[in-house]
Amino acid sequence: MKKNQSEAKNHSKSNTSEQIAKFERKEVEFVIHAIRVLLKLAIVVALILSKSQHLYLLIVLLLVSELVNQVIFYLSKKKPSLKGRLQYVYIASSITAIAAVAHFANWALNDFYLVFLVHIASSTYIFGFVAGIASSIVSAMAYGLLLFSSQAPIWLYLRLPLLAMIILRLLLDRRRYEKIHQFLIYVLDVEKAKQDFIAIASHNLRTPVAAIRGYLEILTRGDEGDLNKSQLSIANKILSNNQELSKLTEQLLQISILETGEEANLLLQPSQINVVVKDVVDKMMPAAKEKGLKLVFKPKSFLPMVNIDVQKIQAVMSNLVDNAVKYTEKGGVTVKTEKKDDFVIISVVDTGVGIPEKELPKIFNKFYRAGNILIYNKTGVGLGLFLGQRIVDLHGGKITVSSQRGKGSTFNVFLPIIKGEVIK
Ligand code: ADP
Repeated sequence: MKKNQSEAKNHSKSNTSEQIAKFERKEVEFVIHAIRVLLKLAIVVALILSKSQHLYLLIVLLLVSELVNQVIFYLSKKKPSLKGRLQYVYIASSITAIAAVAHFANWALNDFYLVFLVHIASSTYIFGFVAGIASSIVSAMAYGLLLFSSQAPIWLYLRLPLLAMIILRLLLDRRRYEKIHQFLIYVLDVEKAKQDFIAIASHNLRTPVAAIRGYLEILTRGDEGDLNKSQLSIANKILSNNQELSKLTEQLLQISILETGEEANLLLQPSQINVVVKDVVDKMMPAAKEKGLKLVFKPKSFLPMVNIDVQKIQAVMSNLVDNAVKYTEKGGVTVKTEKKDDFVIISVVDTGVGIPEKELPKIFNKFYRAGNILIYNKTGVGLGLFLGQRIVDLHGGKITVSSQRGKGSTFNVFLPIIKGEVIK
């Protein structure tokens, strides 16, 4: 219910932002059209005041060009497929009108500079980037001709590159802005889709996975009659795969909880880290033995207490020790604890396959698995370290890693000690 509400909220939020974007665009278009029309009216008034010989001709020309423009806007809205061609008719009709007024009315060159700027801006907003560029080029050419025919002083020609530069900068900024905007929308959508998927998948997987485990345990315990050797071996294999699935489901669930901010609060309690870690090492011992690896715990005595969510830190440590065992074929795994400055450090050192140097910064990313382990066909999806780092972060600590390919890896978990804690 709560989720539905938040989905509805998100949906309406994205709708609202789309509406705002549309509204802003409409407003900008309206202002540009208003300026354009006012400018044409101003030209008409100025022509009347100047008592130009060509008054009527020019007024008719301006009216016709405005009429053509309005028809173009109407058609391009009605038939968007025609928009591409219509933009050039718009540019041509507007520049012809501006150039004709310039020629017959002997207007000041400054005024035409302004008119060209407005024209370029309106073409860009209404028809987009390509029309903007085309309009800047034609405007610069028309303005150049005007400067030439009126024998303008040479310094006025400086306006040509300036005109092109100012306009191009504006256009490029707008284009870049649009690209960034679209990219952000895409990223946010993808991220939200991922979060939704993880939340739905984890919630819906948890119950059937637990039910399968329950039934399998009934079978393997022999509650429903004894299984023969090969049936038992098959049932145990299903059980171990079910455990992998259950681990993955729990990781997905933890991620969805951390990402939606729901119940991310930690159940902090003062704890002795050696006790917490020993528990994890003991649980991993059978898996290490099965692979013929030596798993050793070397706790440092008299460590200060840490304020931690025991269950969550145990999940982080289980993943680190599990990885160390999983990615080590020969040698062993050593888990150590020590104190340094204001932190207790738990290290998991292995003599395994290691991690390629250039992939080290990426292994804490969601769903990332280094290339060198893929050939070993080990189960996993690349969520453990991502989750571990988030959990340790929430405790005010950090995880560091160092590794040499083919020689082994060391993961260090730093957890802040309780301030004022006396070493016992
Ligand atoms: P998973 O083990 O499920 O793939 P993790 O997030 O725990 O996911 O680890 C991410 C990746 O980091 C692993 O796929 C592996 O490439 C690398 N990695 C982690 N721990 C070790 C280790 N002890 N030795 C070698 N590579 C490791």
